Amino acid sequence: MISNDTHALWLIKALDEPTFIISPDFVILHINQKVFDLTGRKGEEITGKTFQEVLGGLIRTIPDDPLLISKASKSPAATRVVLQDTGKEWLAKSTPVYDESGELAYFLYSFRDMVNPEQFQNTLRLLHEKENLIDSLYTTIPTGVGIIRDRIFRLVNDHFCLLVGYDREEIIGRSSEFLYLSHEEFLEMGVRIYREVNRKGKGVETMWKTKNNKIIHVLIQVSYLNREDNSYIFSTLDITRSKQYERKLKESEARYKSIFYDSSAPMLIIDPETDEIFDANNAALRYYGYTKEQMLCLHINEINIMSVEDIKNEMTKAREHRKFLFYFKHRLSNGQIRDVEVHSGPVVFNEKPYLLSIIQDISVQKQQEVELQDLATSLIKAQEIARLGSWAYDPETGDVVWSAELFKILGYDPNSFQPTMQRLFDAVHPADKEEAVRSFETFLKEKTRYTSEVRIERPDNQVVYVQCFGESMDRDQKIIFTGAVLDITERKKAEFEIEEKSLFFNSVISNLQEGVIVYDMDMKVILWNKRMEEVTGKRSSEVVGCDVYNLFPHVQKEGLDKLIEKAFQNEIVVSHDILYERDNGESMWYYATFSPNYSSKGKIVGVIEVVAEITDRKKAEFKEIERNEELFKANTELDNFVYRVSHDLRAPISSSLGLSRISLSENSVEVLHRYARLQEKSLEKLDRFIKDILDYSRNSRIEVIPQNIPLKDIVENVLEQLNKLPENQRIQITMDIQQECPFYSDKLRVEIILNNIISNAFKFQNVYHEDPYVNIFFKIDEKQGQFIVEDNGIGIAPEHQHKVFDMFYRATAARPGSGIGLYIVQDCVKKMNGEISMESKINYGSRFTIILPNLLKPD
Ligand code: ADP
Repeated sequence: MISNDTHALWLIKALDEPTFIISPDFVILHINQKVFDLTGRKGEEITGKTFQEVLGGLIRTIPDDPLLISKASKSPAATRVVLQDTGKEWLAKSTPVYDESGELAYFLYSFRDMVNPEQFQNTLRLLHEKENLIDSLYTTIPTGVGIIRDRIFRLVNDHFCLLVGYDREEIIGRSSEFLYLSHEEFLEMGVRIYREVNRKGKGVETMWKTKNNKIIHVLIQVSYLNREDNSYIFSTLDITRSKQYERKLKESEARYKSIFYDSSAPMLIIDPETDEIFDANNAALRYYGYTKEQMLCLHINEINIMSVEDIKNEMTKAREHRKFLFYFKHRLSNGQIRDVEVHSGPVVFNEKPYLLSIIQDISVQKQQEVELQDLATSLIKAQEIARLGSWAYDPETGDVVWSAELFKILGYDPNSFQPTMQRLFDAVHPADKEEAVRSFETFLKEKTRYTSEVRIERPDNQVVYVQCFGESMDRDQKIIFTGAVLDITERKKAEFEIEEKSLFFNSVISNLQEGVIVYDMDMKVILWNKRMEEVTGKRSSEVVGCDVYNLFPHVQKEGLDKLIEKAFQNEIVVSHDILYERDNGESMWYYATFSPNYSSKGKIVGVIEVVAEITDRKKAEFKEIERNEELFKANTELDNFVYRVSHDLRAPISSSLGLSRISLSENSVEVLHRYARLQEKSLEKLDRFIKDILDYSRNSRIEVIPQNIPLKDIVENVLEQLNKLPENQRIQITMDIQQECPFYSDKLRVEIILNNIISNAFKFQNVYHEDPYVNIFFKIDEKQGQFIVEDNGIGIAPEHQHKVFDMFYRATAARPGSGIGLYIVQDCVKKMNGEISMESKINYGSRFTIILPNLLKPD
């Protein structure tokens, strides 16, 4: 139930009946004017006193005290009373009013003039209605109301609870301090409320904190309930919104002022009734070139030079487009006419409408528009020349624009249909479509850049290559996608051609039998072909970037420098033959050709070295030289041979002829015998010489025929022949033949060799030596046969030793001979891949060692 508040006070004020507000212990709290009218007593005289005390003097009889009845029954009660003074009968009514906790708060006690019983009944009914009205008033009243005593809440209504967000139980009995933002504010408010209640002002404003910590602005009105116990009736009004509105208003005013005066855009405020300029900001003063005083004396028509009709047209146009945007021509103070764009809108000052105009100079823009038009024309031309089409796409509206050239690139007549992004993708060749669509979708989503190269299939099935670019642009806070499509078919064709050519070039280079090295201007390798890899064993990846001198460290720098210099001077030069040693130790011969490398513009950009391997040719050359040398030797030998043969054959013949001739005129038998012996010697000499020559000729003619050689037989045969000579008889001979296996060789040649070597050992004996000897030592194994023949004969002087194997060379004339024996021996040893060596010391003797391979198991 409800209790007391200001409205209760108003109510009793408004009531026609004398009415009291009485406390539960029957003390009069308030009275209305009617009580004064009835009793002639003022409020101050009555309030604070007990009801009985006051009424005792007023009422003659009180058969049933309605106060007691209503207190006991907790409901309104009424009885008839007779007033002392007038004897008039009244109806006394008591209505108990309860607070929220169900406690009796006070009584409303009133008198009603009772005319008749019917009226009494009616009054009772009205009383009930009134009571209900009060009740509903309290609940429906849209402000928070309550009673506060000593700043402690005694009563509050539902709205108050709603306002502060607390339940009634949380409020009643509690100091109001909890609603304030600080203790200081609470204290200050106490002072303000005290002043207010005595002054009867418009109320006091303060800020409260609600249960959920919201700050609210409240307007509090108070009036005393009881001055003595410091109790007030209060009402609160939530003024937060109006406060906010007030603040916003202040802000927007300040904002407007700062926008207007501080703006860099010229602004005018025009009185639409008079066309006078009411206000102008600094930017406008600067723009038009007037002082503020001058400006405010002007009519807008003095600035706007368009005819009234034109202005009207412009206005109509703007209205049709529902825009406050106009295009005018304005005159500046210096007489210049400018194109301006004016944004206009209504503003209200002091409740009077004005027109705010924002002026933007578009003269430059106008000029630019003309230029832009030119630019657009030349862009179309340029697109045509560059074969570049362009498009734009607004994802919000779905609008798509294609340039005329884009239509042409895709194989259509310009503007022959309404372009869409789909049409663009439809044109893409099926093989490229999926990828193109995918990357384009990513581009739309991520708003990045887009580039791709695709094929376009035109309606006539012709395929063209295009390069696509895309970009997103932020235009007026809206994303627009734009892009270009460039026809690169020609370039592609050229690229393919170049690719083909370079493939061909590469395959030629790599398949060349010559090594090819291409150097840049710093003589660093930029190409190293397959052949070079084979030749050097170095891979292209190892050498590209290497310096020529590091690559061929053994090449003489000066020589190479000269070649390179000449190549840079546009000459083709060839190197000397170069011996190159590979990492595996193999030696190879090359020669290199250096020539300048030209760029496509004809500039020398490096050097090309072509390397040809000439190892085989070089080998052939060496063989040739060798053969030439051999031939030369053979020729010399032949000359020598012919001379010798003619000499050595003719000498014994002529001496024999001479002896025959003188024998004819000789009669002495003794002399004739001597001549005959001399003749015999000459002929023996001739015979031996012919034999030697025959041996020589056999050796060079007859092939080596291996057979088991009866070494002992051969030696014995030789010795038997030699032993026949008387000068050999005193020579001691030893023979040691160690043979562990058969010795296979060429019998004829072994005979020639042994015959000559052993004969020489006998022939060149020292006749003065007391114990001349000849030692023969043979050692035969599976591999070879070693033949040593040594004597203690006259020996060979060192200066002759290296020549004794030459044809017809004789180291001494002390013994007969033609000097061909050792030559034939050496020839035979060579023929059988053997070796011969000789050690000799003059007057001490000689030792000949011959090694011949055992051909027992020929390969
Ligand atoms: P010749 O027909 O003169 O024997 P050779 O070719 O057999 O020719 O020998 C060449 C020369 O080598 C001989 O003239 C001789 O001076 C020297 N010579 C060869 N064998 C011996 C040897 N065992 N002791 C000393 N000198 C020798």
